[in-house]
Amino acid sequence: MREAARSASGAMSENRKVHIKSFGCQMNVYDARRMADTLARDGYAETASAKEADLIILNTCHIREKAVEKVYSELGRLRGMKADAESHDRKPIIAVAGCVAQAEGKEIIRRAPSVRVVVGPQNIHRISELVARANEGHAVVDTEFAVEDKFEQLAPPKHEITRARGISAFVTVQEGCDKFCTFCVVPYTRGSEASRPAARILAEAEGLIAQGVKEITLIGQNVNAYHGAGTDGRDWTLPKLVARLAEIPELKRIRYTTSHPRDMDDELLEAHRDIEKMMPFLHLPVQSGSDRILEEMNRKHTRADYLRIIERTRKARPDMAFSSDFIVGFPGETDRDFEDTLALVREVGYAQCFTFKYSPRPGTPAADLDAQIPEDVKSERLYRLQELIETQQHEFNLSCVGKELDVLFEKPGRHEGQIVGRSPYLQPVPVIAPKSIIGSVARVRINELRTYSLIGELAGNEPVAPAEYSSPEVNALA
Ligand code: SAM
Ligand code: SF4
Repeated sequence: MREAARSASGAMSENRKVHIKSFGCQMNVYDARRMADTLARDGYAETASAKEADLIILNTCHIREKAVEKVYSELGRLRGMKADAESHDRKPIIAVAGCVAQAEGKEIIRRAPSVRVVVGPQNIHRISELVARANEGHAVVDTEFAVEDKFEQLAPPKHEITRARGISAFVTVQEGCDKFCTFCVVPYTRGSEASRPAARILAEAEGLIAQGVKEITLIGQNVNAYHGAGTDGRDWTLPKLVARLAEIPELKRIRYTTSHPRDMDDELLEAHRDIEKMMPFLHLPVQSGSDRILEEMNRKHTRADYLRIIERTRKARPDMAFSSDFIVGFPGETDRDFEDTLALVREVGYAQCFTFKYSPRPGTPAADLDAQIPEDVKSERLYRLQELIETQQHEFNLSCVGKELDVLFEKPGRHEGQIVGRSPYLQPVPVIAPKSIIGSVARVRINELRTYSLIGELAGNEPVAPAEYSSPEVNALA
């Protein structure tokens, strides 16, 4: 028998199913999870099948044009599915959340009338109420930036849900952006930069850790610009927050993403030097290797500034590996500018990168520049950049063979007796090990590289406790 649950609107509702499809960045993955947790209060259980769902949410990304088009084509597909469900006396609700919802608003309902809820990323805490109104037959659009703290109103995950999500979790610490890179929609869709108070982040992290989470990735559009109210009444920085989290014995690993070069300061580098639980892997987008393009992008840092940060980070933490984002074909980018980007990649030597063709976003300054680059030139540059980066990634992965790495074990692997974990650099590492190893860190001797996976064997018999982590060589900062 289906159990009844009380919804946010106060009405009793039967247990229902929600299917959430998330596009884009980790911030969206986090938002999707929190919407699912909040809807669980109203009796909605998550389902991987859109067909059997009573509520389908597309949690969208607006960063590139392709991402927006994907949403509309997905909505076309869902329209057919909804019509089919209605012929069987079911009335699934289709909702669009996230940055496309914020940017397009009512336009979504005009282009796709089967959509009943449009909710911007700052308003997702109102999802229950919006769905309740849609169930009453209204089409609702909620894209005004909310004044209340959405995080306080989103429900925490239930114990069994946290367990099912695994031992690694995201926690949003900062949202929005005031940097206004000329290509980027984030300041318009996510609003201005705001940091959550440290006490609330710590409470959320402690809740997750109490339920078995061993690795936390602090996320934000500019996570290293974090400056939230501390528990001591002072403003806390990201390194201060990380230091406090690192004191929790059950937490084994801390990561953060995405960082901006302008906010990589001495305190953060010192934290990398001193806090062993901080993983030696830094995603630090540079976008271009050309000073001229960096200026046009309004990045407010030069190529030399970026290279200096890389050098100083390596001094603080010699085993640090880097990742970055690159945009090719920004308006006015010449062959020479692009060669500067390739040269920067060669100079840094990345473990992995994300590469994008410039996509003009309506309302951003770069979209109005005259010197837009032809699509075939962008494609050719993207191909050359990806080729170089793939070579570097392969070399980096190969350099791990023959080494011993600490691996945090996550879940059973595809083969009998196999357990898969992640290296400090996020590479998957399958080994033969007992199931009881899940959730602990152990040293693994890496024997082989197979595509992107490092194949290894346990170096000792016993799982290594976090306190026995191998210390990185500690060098003084320059
Ligand atoms: N805040 C981060 C930073 O400053 O590097 C990045 C956030 S953004 C969500 C993720 C990446 O999307 C950017 O680093 C950039 O490479 C890419 N991106 C943003 N706008 C783009 C555009 N209009 N065209 C192509 N790529 C874009
Ligand atoms: Fe977008 Fe630039 Fe802000 Fe990053 S720093 S979110 S790229 S505006």
